[in-house]
Amino acid sequence: MSSIKDKIEKLREELNEHNYNYYVLDSPTITDLEFDLKLKELETLENQYPEFFDANSPTQRVGGEITKNFETIPHEHRMYSLENSYSKEDLIDWENRIKKMIEGTVEYTCELKYDGASISLTYENGVLLKAVTRGDGFQGDNVTANVKTIKSVPLKLKGDYPPRFDIRGEIILPIDGFNKMNEERVEIGEEPYRNPRNTASGSLKLQDSAEVAKRPLECLLYNITGSNLGIKTQFESLEKARSWGFKVPDAAKKMHSMDEVFEFISYWDIHRHNLPYEIDGVVIKVNSLDQQEELGYTAKSPRWAMAYKFKAEQVSTKLNSISYQVGRTGAITPVANLEPVELAGTIVKRASLHNADQIEKLDVRIGDEVFVEKGGEIIPKIIAVDLTKRPLNIEPVTYIANCPECQTPLVRQEGEAQHYCPNYMGCNPQIIGRIQHYISRKAMDIEGLGGETVALLVNEGLINDYSDLYELTKEQVIPLERMAEKSADNLIKGIEQSKNIPFERVMYALGIRYVGETVAKKLVKHYKNIDAIAAASIEELVNVDEIGNKIAESVVDFFHSENNMRIISRLKEFGVQLEISAEQLANQTNKLEGQSIVISGVFETMSRDELKKMIENNGGKVSSSISSKTSFIVAGDNMGPSKKKKAEDLKIQLINEYEFLQKLN
Ligand code: AMP
Ligand code: ZN
Repeated sequence: MSSIKDKIEKLREELNEHNYNYYVLDSPTITDLEFDLKLKELETLENQYPEFFDANSPTQRVGGEITKNFETIPHEHRMYSLENSYSKEDLIDWENRIKKMIEGTVEYTCELKYDGASISLTYENGVLLKAVTRGDGFQGDNVTANVKTIKSVPLKLKGDYPPRFDIRGEIILPIDGFNKMNEERVEIGEEPYRNPRNTASGSLKLQDSAEVAKRPLECLLYNITGSNLGIKTQFESLEKARSWGFKVPDAAKKMHSMDEVFEFISYWDIHRHNLPYEIDGVVIKVNSLDQQEELGYTAKSPRWAMAYKFKAEQVSTKLNSISYQVGRTGAITPVANLEPVELAGTIVKRASLHNADQIEKLDVRIGDEVFVEKGGEIIPKIIAVDLTKRPLNIEPVTYIANCPECQTPLVRQEGEAQHYCPNYMGCNPQIIGRIQHYISRKAMDIEGLGGETVALLVNEGLINDYSDLYELTKEQVIPLERMAEKSADNLIKGIEQSKNIPFERVMYALGIRYVGETVAKKLVKHYKNIDAIAAASIEELVNVDEIGNKIAESVVDFFHSENNMRIISRLKEFGVQLEISAEQLANQTNKLEGQSIVISGVFETMSRDELKKMIENNGGKVSSSISSKTSFIVAGDNMGPSKKKKAEDLKIQLINEYEFLQKLN
């Protein structure tokens, strides 16, 4: 038994180290596959021997815990904010104030000011105890379950860490990850997130920690708080934090004079655009902790630290015209076409105008000189009009009333910012967009067919919706531009093969607004076939796990359309999978609905994974630990003694694998 425990602990240690190499040092030493295999191995062992459960095991990073209401807890040490400065003069004034209060020379530590959500982490005996948001500085929200899923937050420390301390940092969302999340949102017809900062702080308050685990968040640390830590300077504390396994960017530098501080600022004002994440300034801190203590705090912020905020980079240029784009869902987005101009190292030609309200709010007119800024948003935006340069006689923008592609009058729903083209069936970009979504990698993944070919096929009048794909012939395709015999063959073959794609992916491919991959899976699991989904009412749909009102309405709308029903019956005729396979279905019931079941020990006729799957397929939930909520325990050989005792104490029924199978039949 103890050798199993050793094995589990060794695996945990190894995985922690690999997590550290990958997420903190950015230099992995094994492949992702090797990592996944080790994680799987640990997971299997932990399931098999739940008595060795550890809330800080690397397997817990995937999340799953749901928080309905975040508990408010007081900070043991207050979280202050920072005073801001905007110029060198401000900083010289600050240094003069400091020198009046303390003796001797002053050194500084300069750090980047990460633009995210601040967090306070408490560690006790080297393990993460809690993670709390800043809140009002005196108390914040307990978001431990969510923060645990962030891979650069160490769950166990290394080295010579103190027995108990708080460490503060910033949870950020790197720009690449942010862009990727937005691409996925746009794909399911959701509005993209506005900027990484708000998305990072919003992520901390998600109820489902498994959702948080999917977001590529990072945690960058900048301050250690506690008593008797044996640390003398801010710079040393950063080095210490790094040695315990925290992610502390190495941009942080020790400075001997204010002139060196100015150099640091000038350097980062330019180079910040090459960082993988956003910063909105730098933070300058008096280096000596003794001097910090002498300086103390004002009502709001430490006297020993100062934020220097960069000006968001701005230029002015002329607005030449506004064009209107039509998305797959019919949403209209106005885009400003600008006189090309350099901004933050790139040439900017276009800027987002978001919607009609935004144009009205800015009172921007065609021909205006406008200020363009690259701030938190990735796409530059127009922030104001230079009225001193407004030409005479230019008129306010009249927002388009008709779709630029199909001339249909646009509609705008109560409470919605966006205008929509309602010509669902006849509007070219919508038609093309839907088919492009249908064939995309995560949907039907049709090999040999790309987005541009789809546009060609639609424009040539060969297809009008995705069901038409299945009637395409090689002879029709060959005459198309850049189509050779071989590529035409591949295209037809790819379409044919898509008939084997499982129903849950077809469900996603249909392109129903708000039905992403996860929702599609939920619907399929619950209803099993398309007819049942099509027949469901809003009331029924919202009763399905994770389906809210907005999604339910959108699903019902979709199946109300005669045209959609016609397309679906055609897909059915062609043999596209519109129900879960007989094999899957045979093994699915609701017999264990609402039951929480613990598996323990080893079995004769099946593996633990098979047993687990069987429970889930029959609607039950597998839980790793015994509690008063456990419905029953499926016990095999070698059930741990502590478990047995706990089951007896709580009077929970034990059944063997044969009794379990009988229950199902
Ligand atoms: P503000 O929100 O403008 O008052 O700025 C204060 C916030 O800056 C703090 O609450 C931190 O979350 C954040 N911050 C980002 N980077 C740092 C850093 N290197 N040192 C201190 N605070 C930082
Ligand atoms: Zn249209």
